[in-house]
Amino acid sequence: MLDQQEEATYIRDVLDRKNTILQEIRDALNRSHQHHDVRVIAVTKYIDETKARLLPMAGITDCAENRLQVAEPKLAAHMPVLWHFIGPVQMNKAKKVAQYFDFVHSVDRKELLDALDRYRTVEKPLQVLLQVNISHEPQKSGVDPESVVDLAIHCLSKAHLQLAGLMMIGTRYDDMTLVRNEFRMLRGIRDDLLERLSLPKLELSMGMSQDFSVAVEEGATMVRIGRFLVLEENPRT
Ligand SMILES: *Cc1c(COP(=O)(O)O)cnc(C)c1O
Repeated sequence: MLDQQEEATYIRDVLDRKNTILQEIRDALNRSHQHHDVRVIAVTKYIDETKARLLPMAGITDCAENRLQVAEPKLAAHMPVLWHFIGPVQMNKAKKVAQYFDFVHSVDRKELLDALDRYRTVEKPLQVLLQVNISHEPQKSGVDPESVVDLAIHCLSKAHLQLAGLMMIGTRYDDMTLVRNEFRMLRGIRDDLLERLSLPKLELSMGMSQDFSVAVEEGATMVRIGRFLVLEENPRT
Protein backbone atom coordinates (compact mmCIF):
# COMPACT_ATOMS: atom_id res chain seq x y z
CA MET A 1 0.00 0.00 0.00
CA LEU A 2 1.08 3.56 -0.64
CA ASP A 3 0.58 6.30 1.92
CA GLN A 4 -1.13 9.54 0.92
CA GLN A 5 2.11 11.31 0.16
CA GLU A 6 3.29 8.48 -2.10
CA GLU A 7 -0.04 8.40 -3.87
CA ALA A 8 0.11 12.12 -4.60
CA THR A 9 3.67 11.78 -5.90
CA TYR A 10 2.73 8.88 -8.17
CA ILE A 11 -0.26 10.75 -9.61
CA ARG A 12 1.89 13.81 -10.30
CA ASP A 13 4.60 11.68 -11.96
CA VAL A 14 2.13 9.95 -14.25
CA LEU A 15 0.52 13.27 -15.12
CA ASP A 16 3.95 14.70 -16.04
CA ARG A 17 4.81 11.73 -18.21
CA LYS A 18 1.40 11.78 -19.85
CA ASN A 19 1.92 15.44 -20.73
CA THR A 20 5.34 14.65 -22.19
CA ILE A 21 3.79 11.88 -24.29
CA LEU A 22 0.97 14.16 -25.48
CA GLN A 23 3.51 16.80 -26.50
CA GLU A 24 5.56 14.22 -28.43
CA ILE A 25 2.40 13.04 -30.15
CA ARG A 26 1.49 16.61 -31.15
CA ASP A 27 5.02 17.10 -32.51
CA ALA A 28 4.87 13.84 -34.47
CA LEU A 29 1.47 14.78 -35.94
CA ASN A 30 2.79 18.20 -36.95
CA ARG A 31 5.93 16.77 -38.56
CA SER A 32 3.83 14.38 -40.63
CA HIS A 33 1.01 16.87 -41.39
CA GLN A 34 -1.72 14.79 -39.76
CA HIS A 35 -4.61 16.06 -37.67
CA HIS A 36 -6.40 13.05 -36.17
CA ASP A 37 -6.75 12.24 -32.46
CA VAL A 38 -4.43 9.68 -30.91
CA ARG A 39 -5.70 7.65 -27.98
CA VAL A 40 -3.10 7.02 -25.29
CA ILE A 41 -3.62 3.62 -23.67
CA ALA A 42 -1.82 2.98 -20.37
CA VAL A 43 -0.48 -0.58 -20.20
CA THR A 44 -0.91 -1.51 -16.55
CA LYS A 45 0.71 -4.99 -16.52
CA TYR A 46 3.69 -3.63 -14.56
CA ILE A 47 1.73 -2.23 -11.60
CA ASP A 48 -0.72 -3.62 -9.05
CA GLU A 49 -4.26 -2.42 -8.43
CA THR A 50 -3.27 -0.03 -5.63
CA LYS A 51 -1.35 2.02 -8.19
CA ALA A 52 -3.67 1.37 -11.14
CA ARG A 53 -6.58 2.84 -9.16
CA LEU A 54 -4.77 6.19 -9.14
CA LEU A 55 -4.42 6.46 -12.92
CA PRO A 56 -7.80 8.12 -13.58
CA MET A 57 -6.69 10.91 -11.25
CA ALA A 58 -3.80 11.53 -13.62
CA GLY A 59 -6.27 11.84 -16.48
CA ILE A 60 -5.82 8.30 -17.84
CA THR A 61 -8.97 7.19 -19.67
CA ASP A 62 -7.84 3.90 -21.23
CA CYS A 63 -5.98 0.96 -19.66
CA ALA A 64 -4.66 -2.27 -21.19
CA GLU A 65 -3.58 -5.69 -19.97
CA ASN A 66 -2.06 -8.62 -21.83
CA ARG A 67 -2.91 -11.35 -19.30
CA LEU A 68 -6.30 -11.99 -17.78
CA GLN A 69 -4.95 -13.18 -14.45
CA VAL A 70 -2.94 -9.99 -13.95
CA ALA A 71 -5.91 -7.90 -15.12
CA GLU A 72 -8.57 -9.32 -12.83
CA PRO A 73 -7.75 -7.47 -9.56
CA LYS A 74 -7.65 -4.20 -11.50
CA LEU A 75 -10.91 -4.90 -13.32
CA ALA A 76 -12.46 -5.56 -9.91
CA ALA A 77 -11.52 -2.03 -8.82
CA HIS A 78 -14.19 -0.64 -11.19
CA MET A 79 -12.08 2.25 -12.37
CA PRO A 80 -13.72 4.83 -14.64
CA VAL A 81 -11.69 3.78 -17.71
CA LEU A 82 -12.09 1.76 -20.88
CA TRP A 83 -10.30 -1.59 -20.73
CA HIS A 84 -8.30 -2.99 -23.66
CA PHE A 85 -7.05 -6.58 -23.91
CA ILE A 86 -3.77 -6.70 -25.84
CA GLY A 87 -2.36 -10.21 -25.26
CA PRO A 88 -2.86 -13.60 -26.85
CA VAL A 89 -6.37 -14.94 -26.13
CA GLN A 90 -6.63 -18.64 -25.32
CA MET A 91 -10.01 -20.17 -26.11
CA ASN A 92 -10.72 -20.93 -22.44
CA LYS A 93 -10.28 -17.20 -21.67
CA ALA A 94 -12.49 -15.92 -24.47
CA LYS A 95 -15.59 -15.69 -22.31
CA LYS A 96 -14.05 -13.44 -19.69
CA VAL A 97 -12.31 -11.30 -22.29
CA ALA A 98 -15.61 -10.83 -24.14
CA GLN A 99 -17.44 -9.88 -20.97
CA TYR A 100 -14.92 -7.75 -19.08
CA PHE A 101 -13.23 -5.69 -21.81
CA ASP A 102 -14.30 -2.87 -24.11
CA PHE A 103 -11.62 -3.50 -26.77
CA VAL A 104 -9.61 -6.56 -27.82
CA HIS A 105 -6.54 -5.75 -29.92
CA SER A 106 -5.18 -9.24 -30.39
CA VAL A 107 -7.69 -11.17 -32.47
CA ASP A 108 -6.03 -13.33 -35.11
CA ARG A 109 -8.37 -16.20 -36.02
CA LYS A 110 -11.97 -16.99 -36.91
CA GLU A 111 -12.63 -19.40 -34.05
CA LEU A 112 -11.75 -16.65 -31.63
CA LEU A 113 -14.13 -14.22 -33.36
CA ASP A 114 -16.86 -16.87 -33.09
CA ALA A 115 -16.20 -17.37 -29.37
CA LEU A 116 -16.02 -13.65 -28.55
CA ASP A 117 -19.27 -13.04 -30.42
CA ARG A 118 -21.01 -15.88 -28.60
CA TYR A 119 -19.90 -14.73 -25.16
CA ARG A 120 -20.48 -11.01 -25.62
CA THR A 121 -23.80 -10.69 -23.85
CA VAL A 122 -23.91 -6.99 -23.02
CA GLU A 123 -25.65 -4.72 -25.48
CA LYS A 124 -22.61 -2.68 -26.51
CA PRO A 125 -20.60 -4.52 -29.18
CA LEU A 126 -17.06 -5.60 -28.33
CA GLN A 127 -14.55 -3.43 -30.23
CA VAL A 128 -12.25 -5.79 -32.14
CA LEU A 129 -8.84 -5.06 -33.61
CA LEU A 130 -7.16 -7.69 -35.75
CA GLN A 131 -3.53 -8.32 -34.86
CA VAL A 132 -1.38 -8.57 -37.97
CA ASN A 133 1.91 -10.49 -38.06
CA ILE A 134 3.63 -8.00 -40.36
CA SER A 135 7.03 -9.68 -40.27
CA HIS A 136 5.65 -13.21 -40.90
CA GLU A 137 7.55 -14.49 -37.88
CA PRO A 138 6.27 -17.99 -37.26
CA GLN A 139 6.57 -17.77 -33.46
CA LYS A 140 4.58 -14.55 -33.30
CA SER A 141 0.84 -14.22 -32.96
CA GLY A 142 -1.17 -12.37 -35.54
CA VAL A 143 -2.86 -13.06 -38.82
CA ASP A 144 -0.74 -13.03 -42.01
CA PRO A 145 -1.18 -9.86 -44.06
CA GLU A 146 -2.73 -11.89 -46.92
CA SER A 147 -5.50 -13.20 -44.67
CA VAL A 148 -6.58 -9.91 -43.07
CA VAL A 149 -9.41 -9.21 -45.54
CA ASP A 150 -10.93 -12.63 -44.99
CA LEU A 151 -10.76 -12.27 -41.22
CA ALA A 152 -12.20 -8.73 -41.38
CA ILE A 153 -15.18 -9.96 -43.41
CA HIS A 154 -15.78 -12.69 -40.83
CA CYS A 155 -15.70 -10.06 -38.07
CA LEU A 156 -18.19 -7.85 -39.90
CA SER A 157 -20.69 -10.73 -39.93
CA LYS A 158 -20.82 -10.87 -36.11
CA ALA A 159 -23.69 -9.12 -34.35
CA HIS A 160 -21.89 -8.56 -31.04
CA LEU A 161 -18.57 -7.46 -32.48
CA GLN A 162 -17.50 -4.25 -34.14
CA LEU A 163 -14.46 -4.21 -36.39
CA ALA A 164 -12.50 -1.32 -34.89
CA GLY A 165 -9.08 -1.58 -36.51
CA LEU A 166 -5.72 -3.29 -36.84
CA MET A 167 -2.91 -3.84 -34.35
CA MET A 168 0.74 -4.84 -34.60
CA ILE A 169 3.77 -5.27 -32.39
CA GLY A 170 7.04 -4.10 -33.95
CA THR A 171 9.78 -6.65 -34.45
CA ARG A 172 12.82 -4.86 -33.05
CA TYR A 173 13.44 -1.62 -31.34
CA ASP A 174 17.12 -1.23 -32.10
CA ASP A 175 16.32 -0.64 -35.75
CA MET A 176 13.88 2.24 -36.17
CA THR A 177 14.05 2.05 -39.96
CA LEU A 178 12.78 -1.50 -39.84
CA VAL A 179 10.06 -0.68 -37.32
CA ARG A 180 8.98 2.39 -39.30
CA ASN A 181 8.67 0.21 -42.39
CA GLU A 182 6.46 -2.24 -40.52
CA PHE A 183 4.22 0.58 -39.25
CA ARG A 184 3.95 1.86 -42.81
CA MET A 185 3.00 -1.61 -44.05
CA LEU A 186 0.20 -1.88 -41.49
CA ARG A 187 -1.13 1.50 -42.56
CA GLY A 188 -1.11 0.28 -46.16
CA ILE A 189 -3.08 -2.81 -45.19
CA ARG A 190 -5.55 -0.59 -43.27
CA ASP A 191 -6.03 1.76 -46.22
CA ASP A 192 -6.57 -1.18 -48.56
CA LEU A 193 -9.14 -2.66 -46.17
CA LEU A 194 -11.04 0.64 -45.91
CA GLU A 195 -11.32 0.78 -49.66
CA ARG A 196 -12.13 -2.87 -50.33
CA LEU A 197 -14.81 -3.10 -47.64
CA SER A 198 -16.04 0.51 -47.98
CA LEU A 199 -15.54 1.21 -44.29
CA PRO A 200 -15.53 4.77 -42.93
CA LYS A 201 -12.78 4.31 -40.36
CA LEU A 202 -10.34 1.80 -38.85
CA GLU A 203 -7.99 2.45 -35.94
CA LEU A 204 -4.26 1.70 -36.14
CA SER A 205 -3.02 0.40 -32.79
CA MET A 206 0.77 0.57 -33.01
CA GLY A 207 3.62 2.06 -31.01
CA MET A 208 4.84 1.44 -27.46
CA SER A 209 7.20 3.30 -25.08
CA GLN A 210 10.20 3.13 -27.37
CA ASP A 211 8.65 3.85 -30.72
CA PHE A 212 5.31 5.64 -30.30
CA SER A 213 6.52 8.87 -31.96
CA VAL A 214 7.52 6.95 -35.07
CA ALA A 215 4.23 5.05 -34.99
CA VAL A 216 2.27 8.32 -34.82
CA GLU A 217 4.27 9.73 -37.73
CA GLU A 218 3.21 6.66 -39.67
CA GLY A 219 -0.47 7.04 -38.81
CA ALA A 220 -1.08 5.37 -35.42
CA THR A 221 -4.41 6.36 -33.84
CA MET A 222 -3.85 4.32 -30.67
CA VAL A 223 -0.55 3.96 -28.80
CA ARG A 224 -0.05 1.38 -26.02
CA ILE A 225 2.40 2.75 -23.49
CA GLY A 226 3.59 0.88 -20.42
CA ARG A 227 7.02 1.52 -18.94
CA PHE A 228 7.33 5.16 -19.94
CA LEU A 229 3.92 6.06 -18.50
CA VAL A 230 3.23 3.89 -15.45
CA LEU A 231 6.84 3.25 -14.39
CA GLU A 232 9.58 5.80 -14.06
CA GLU A 233 11.75 4.08 -16.58
CA ASN A 234 12.82 6.04 -19.62
CA PRO A 235 13.33 3.40 -22.29
CA ARG A 236 14.90 5.85 -24.71
CA THR A 237 17.96 6.70 -22.66
C1 LIG B 1 3.67 -4.59 -22.61
C2 LIG B 1 3.01 -4.25 -23.90
C3 LIG B 1 3.02 -2.93 -24.37
C4 LIG B 1 3.72 -1.78 -23.65
O1 LIG B 1 5.10 -1.91 -23.79
P1 LIG B 1 6.09 -0.79 -23.15
O2 LIG B 1 7.37 -1.04 -23.89
O3 LIG B 1 6.17 -1.08 -21.71
O4 LIG B 1 5.52 0.53 -23.47
C5 LIG B 1 2.35 -2.66 -25.56
N1 LIG B 1 1.74 -3.63 -26.27
C6 LIG B 1 1.71 -4.92 -25.84
C7 LIG B 1 1.01 -5.94 -26.66
C8 LIG B 1 2.36 -5.28 -24.65
O5 LIG B 1 2.33 -6.55 -24.25
